[in-house]
Amino acid sequence: MSVRDAAIRRVTARAFEVPTDQPEADGTLSWDKTTMVLVEIEAGGATGLGYTYADASLVPLIAGKLATIAKERDAFDITGIDEALWRSVRNLGRSGLAATAISAIDIALWDLKAKLLDLPLAKLLGRRRERARIYGSGGFTSYSDETLRRQLADWVEKDGCRWVKMKIGSEPEDDPRRVEVARRAIGADAGLFVDANGALTAQRAVAFAEQIAAQRVAWFEEPVTSDDAEGLAFVRSHAPTGMEIAAGEYGYTLDDFVRLLERPSVDVLQIDVTRAGGISGFLQAAALCDARHIDLSGHCAPAAHRHVACAAPRFRHLEWFHDHVRIEHMFFDGAPQPKDGTIAPDPSAPGLGLRLKERDAERFRVG
Ligand SMILES: [Mg+2]
Repeated sequence: MSVRDAAIRRVTARAFEVPTDQPEADGTLSWDKTTMVLVEIEAGGATGLGYTYADASLVPLIAGKLATIAKERDAFDITGIDEALWRSVRNLGRSGLAATAISAIDIALWDLKAKLLDLPLAKLLGRRRERARIYGSGGFTSYSDETLRRQLADWVEKDGCRWVKMKIGSEPEDDPRRVEVARRAIGADAGLFVDANGALTAQRAVAFAEQIAAQRVAWFEEPVTSDDAEGLAFVRSHAPTGMEIAAGEYGYTLDDFVRLLERPSVDVLQIDVTRAGGISGFLQAAALCDARHIDLSGHCAPAAHRHVACAAPRFRHLEWFHDHVRIEHMFFDGAPQPKDGTIAPDPSAPGLGLRLKERDAERFRVG
């Protein structure tokens, strides 16, 4: 198949705000809604779709300055478009909002390229595996014990997840008890992860790690803030044997990932395709992991990660995050369905395999 004219004709952005199904909190934040910013790019008679979970203020940035840069360029030249986009945000700061905007555009460009070639994105990227393992993630600190038990047990029993993750750090003195509740809910065999979202100091994190070691916690995420690479490295070197330290969800540029990998500060690097420069940035960060012999895990937004997870080296698992799973099923036909604790690209659907349910999404439009 040949695509003679793949000049980008249109770049649009919309924001949607979806209330959570109940109040949610972790060790350092509480929230009752989630914002998705969706980007669509048209070229060669096809439309690519990408998104990020960020803020509605991205809409004018994407639809204005960034769209102007991408328009009329050849949609296949993703590397060159990305380079121009990153250069254009230098004075805004490349990290944070600007990175999430570029991530959504990059994802849309890859979806578009795969659609123009009529290939599932995983096949275009080159598959290393057919399916991606997922771990259930939620267990918010705002939940009752009963809600916590039910949510974690369902991931193991219904979705076949081999691991689940809960939040800690809102009331650290109660956390050892909550971790015990979680362990009892999932049984002896499932892996248990905890995520402090940077709520603790390094010393307190090590003390807590010792307290919960009896529950065989396999992964301690962001015990201290990811800004403190040295603190993470301290916790990593003092944590009980078998408890891995994970971080990286606030990595926006390769420099952020290098900082976490160089001591190393983590046993597993988390990479978020919707923050770290999209599919392109994810694969670059994965190459850094490969060079450091450190495994990676995809952070949140499972529908956006499904294909690249099948292509990346040293990939371990994807986060099956409660809020995003819910929104992606509300918004997209073709959103991934778990089977035996894994998700897989649809081999018959080109691109990401997602189709926006316009009418369902429009109800939540805020920008
Ligand atoms: Mg986290």
